[in-house]
Amino acid sequence: MHQPHINTPLSEIGTVLRRSQEVLVITHVSPDGDAIGSLLGLHWLLLSPGRKAARRVTLACADRVPAQFGFLPGADEIVQDPPARPWDVVVALDASDTHRLGSPFQPATYGSAPVVNLDHHITNLYFGQLNYVDPNAAATAQIVVRLAEEMGLKIGKEAALCLLTGLVSDTLGFRTSNVTPEVMATAMRLMKAGANLAEITERILNHMPLSLMRLWGLALAELRVEGQLVWTHITKEMRAQAGAPEESDGGLVSYLIKAPEARVAAVFAEKANGEVEVGLRARPGYDVSDVALSLGGGGHPQAAGCTIPGPLAEAEARVLPLLLSLSG
Ligand code: 5GP
Ligand code: MN
Repeated sequence: MHQPHINTPLSEIGTVLRRSQEVLVITHVSPDGDAIGSLLGLHWLLLSPGRKAARRVTLACADRVPAQFGFLPGADEIVQDPPARPWDVVVALDASDTHRLGSPFQPATYGSAPVVNLDHHITNLYFGQLNYVDPNAAATAQIVVRLAEEMGLKIGKEAALCLLTGLVSDTLGFRTSNVTPEVMATAMRLMKAGANLAEITERILNHMPLSLMRLWGLALAELRVEGQLVWTHITKEMRAQAGAPEESDGGLVSYLIKAPEARVAAVFAEKANGEVEVGLRARPGYDVSDVALSLGGGGHPQAAGCTIPGPLAEAEARVLPLLLSLSG
């Protein structure tokens, strides 16, 4: 399981992709904008004109595409159950471990087809035959742009729109601590290729359904502050009361970390199957990725998460002491 964490040069990954005709690309469960954006971005790049005419790219995600990403070109081509074809290559995007890829990932059926793991989580387990993980990249979409550059692929308008959506989503509109000049240069490049930043920002960051606002109201009413930890939870009953049945919470934990009292923030959300999704955030200088990894999840120093067994009260009792010792 534990292979040495050595990156494969993108040139080598590009060579494998260039030779491949049947390509399966999988992104993670509960997809966010970077998951969907990098999936669709890679799709458009691999199909760009002048590339292998016979190439077929199959896009998979265990969960349905959230409505707010439905505007992205190709979103309706993403399948939940990919066929069992003999693939030439399988690409995993934005996932730090294979569990995060869910049911579409079936390595026992891949034969000699290599798994290519492209990701930016510091907790990545290097599960592929070919791995390229850059924890300094602000989004997997940024890595896909690097790959396109390495392969000499032209970034068309569709790819640019999808990839810039990935960047905007994971950086919360270029506000996170991992936004570097390279990120801004990538964004500029994608804008020049035809992606409309204002439209993406409007759709991704400036919209929230009323049902989620009601859910925030219920969850914020139970907000707790302990030391430098700010946290709350979302129960199934709250979802029912708010009329917000889907498992997204609209990024509530990113809101909690805004409190001046908070060094660490957490939201415990009960899922339909009884498991508990734990969303974690930390201010720069604090790191929640190790706690998430130790609980079977993963993420970045400032934004991580895990999914652990319920019931809710037990999950909270297990995780809160770990967070309290982190935040001091
Ligand atoms: P979010 O709180 O926005 O859902 O997730 C923040 C970060 O934590 C993301 O980078 C995401 O990949 C990671 N993350 C959230 N939940 C899980 C989980 O259940 N398992 C793993 N491996 N990572 C998670
Ligand atoms: Mn990401």
